[in-house]
Amino acid sequence: MRFWFATPLWQRVIAALVLGILVGYLWGPGAESIKWIGDLFIAAIKMLVVPLIFFSLVAGVASIGDLRKLGAVGGRAVILFVITGQIAVWLGLGLGTLFQPGAGLDTSAIEVGEVPQSNFTSWTDMIVATVPASPVQVMADGAVLPLIVFSLLIGIGILMAKDEGTPVAQVFDSGSVVMQKVTAIVMELTPFGVFALIAWVTGTLGIPALLALGQMVALNYLGCFLMIAVVYVGMLKFMAKVPVVAFFRGMIDAIAVSYSTASSSATLPVTLRCLERNVGVGRSVSSFTASLGATINMDGTAMYLGLATLFGAQIFGLDLGFSDYIIIAVTATLGSIGAAGIPGTGLIMMTLVMGSVGVPLETIAFVAGADRIMDMMRTTTNVTSDATIATTVAAMTGELDRAELISADDV
Ligand code: ASP
Repeated sequence: MRFWFATPLWQRVIAALVLGILVGYLWGPGAESIKWIGDLFIAAIKMLVVPLIFFSLVAGVASIGDLRKLGAVGGRAVILFVITGQIAVWLGLGLGTLFQPGAGLDTSAIEVGEVPQSNFTSWTDMIVATVPASPVQVMADGAVLPLIVFSLLIGIGILMAKDEGTPVAQVFDSGSVVMQKVTAIVMELTPFGVFALIAWVTGTLGIPALLALGQMVALNYLGCFLMIAVVYVGMLKFMAKVPVVAFFRGMIDAIAVSYSTASSSATLPVTLRCLERNVGVGRSVSSFTASLGATINMDGTAMYLGLATLFGAQIFGLDLGFSDYIIIAVTATLGSIGAAGIPGTGLIMMTLVMGSVGVPLETIAFVAGADRIMDMMRTTTNVTSDATIATTVAAMTGELDRAELISADDV
């Protein structure tokens, strides 16, 4: 027991993954009998969706403090969040279309439940569907899109109410911490869920399924590397005009912590320390940009959601058109904004994106077995993006102490 908890969660998950593949391979279709353990894990994750988004998004907006204070820093940061997020999600869609990781896989052995009907038959329907006509209904249905709109509005309401809004803000603050703890409990189920799900996939569909999944993991890593090596390096070089190697050397602690914890929020203190002490970003810019970024700026997650949805469409033989791509881009962006910076939330958000274009939600069970390995890399991408944007905004607003970065280079 002590040994179990003394081993970091991610190591237990990787061990479960390897063991699950082995057991599934040897057991064959009989492995179906333990799938319920994986279903239980996914049900527990789904349970978190509504309260997690509601509390963390309202608390995130309320933490900005004052709508007017946003000013130069907030405007620039948010524009860069949006631009990099869009590049990421379209990169995911591009990679998925180009390499077709799920094409040709025979998934007839998987029983597909009721495929969710798309709410969005036209543009106008799509816009109307974002308005939470009944917030309670929206929560009961787990309709994430109107829930995000509702949460943003409550957050803005809190800011507008100023002092009188403080008690409500505190409730959401505390609620979001509580929800993170509940998530941590659910995450303890990960090794069991991963074991059962990957054994089921391997047992029922065999090695071709593993190869497809392996391709998806490889594409996910490729996409993240491209974001870092092309987009962020480009921004650092041409917009912030800082020495790139020195920047990454300064951020190395945050990069290592993000990869091993798979949590942007848990990495935040390290991100801030690296930015302020090693890169020379002014405190006001770093705390605002990196803190907000840890909750709403998730390029790795946005890319993953785009890629995974295409993967689901491919393994279940669904044809998606360009209008579906646009819906995926919008919902994946919203999903990455709504995802809390803790392990596994990207997986939770798949319900939103896949549901909106009618991709079978069984895809979630299919990829969940390999999610953690991808989560580690996408979290590193998310954190690198926050740090890059904080540095760029600091350079633009004269809050970057360039001497600090140069001296860090000597270390
Ligand atoms: N684990 C990611 C993060 O904390 C979110 C995700 O699951 O995509 O940044």
